[in-house]
Amino acid sequence: TAPTAPSTPPSTPPGAFNVEAVRRDFPQLHREVNGRPLVWLDNGATTLKPRQVVEAVAEHYSMGTSNVHRGAHSLAKQATQVYEEGRQAAADLLGTPDQGEIVFVRGTTEAVNLVAQSWGRANLGVGDEVLVSAAEHHSNLVPWQLIAAERRARIRPIPLLPDGRLDQDAYRDLLGSRTKLVALTHASNVLGTVPPVAEMTALAHRYGAKVLVDGAQAVSHFPVDVTALDADFYAFSGHKIFAPTGIGVLFGKRELLEAMPPWQGGGNMIDSVSFEETTYAPVPHRLEAGTGHIAGVAGLRAALHYLAGLDREAATAYEEQLTTYAMGALATVPGLQLIGNAPGKIGVLTFLLAGTDPIALARALDQQGIAVRAGHHCAQPALASFGLQSAVRASLALYNTVQDVDALVAALHDLQAR
Ligand code: PLP
Repeated sequence: TAPTAPSTPPSTPPGAFNVEAVRRDFPQLHREVNGRPLVWLDNGATTLKPRQVVEAVAEHYSMGTSNVHRGAHSLAKQATQVYEEGRQAAADLLGTPDQGEIVFVRGTTEAVNLVAQSWGRANLGVGDEVLVSAAEHHSNLVPWQLIAAERRARIRPIPLLPDGRLDQDAYRDLLGSRTKLVALTHASNVLGTVPPVAEMTALAHRYGAKVLVDGAQAVSHFPVDVTALDADFYAFSGHKIFAPTGIGVLFGKRELLEAMPPWQGGGNMIDSVSFEETTYAPVPHRLEAGTGHIAGVAGLRAALHYLAGLDREAATAYEEQLTTYAMGALATVPGLQLIGNAPGKIGVLTFLLAGTDPIALARALDQQGIAVRAGHHCAQPALASFGLQSAVRASLALYNTVQDVDALVAALHDLQAR
């Protein structure tokens, strides 16, 4: 049995953020895995869904099925309304007053590929540079490698400091007249680092470079304001913010989106079509070829309305306290090495346990109902910066509790003692 963790459990002022009430909305938190109550600490991979989201998706398929923007019947109008309310909810989440700046995509990966294939193909030339932080998920690196190879542009990494922060001196040295784009995470999925995106964006803009911010891990943890960040592009995935898989959002500044050539052709994205000349619909539709993930948007709308109904500042404060508690509690486990200690990090706790293989460790935790991820976390350069290929990651969401952290820490103490 494990000693109790010495750090003090967080105490959120009553009424500010009611984690127990939130937990009641997430059915999966109340199931068992391997005969034990589930402890879901794999939120970095995907978040669980509140029943409001499940019901919205079921409602679409059971009663509201219709295509959008097509057809004069009532159900088409209703589906279109839900779809466009989803777009409005995403605009509200990101802090833009302009719905036309919200493009529906499959997820963060598709958002980055869209920008690389459309904006990148039109704007990158021989010898141009794309700065990519060493903390990026592969989805904010590989699309840039693909287009850079085609355009004979160059990718340059922004290195990491030992605590997981981005090296700002190196960043300033890398910026120059050849810099065309900076690809930057808003929260690292392996280190938890939250870079100073607003300052880094302002610096990039001095050189006329655009900035694409990967918000996949950020949006569920703290309020985001793309206008305050002055981000040119901002991407996130629905499934990491309590919504379904297969739906995500690309924000782009209107003047950039309007100047971008379509990246896929088909229905929905045209104004008129003939064999002689085809013209395109205004943004965002010209970047949304084909039937979208309508049920996914219904679920995204429900998830974002659900979040909007919470006190987000209080939820963020709660998560920050829980993260601090978790870091203190993990530090009590003999032989545990935490990777990434940047101040202000989100609750992404990546670690190694001396003498234990990460995959074997994750399997052992699974036997106790504790879900964590092990492997390279789709961020091989980030791990390589620490001389690693693989690690275990426990990642928190707003519905996690001190009890969840204690269960993990107790299990680690047990495994270490064997
Ligand atoms: N960026 C970050 C920081 C992520 O954590 C992830 C998913 O793990 C992605 C991008 C890719 O997201 P998706 O697979 O939903 O496109």
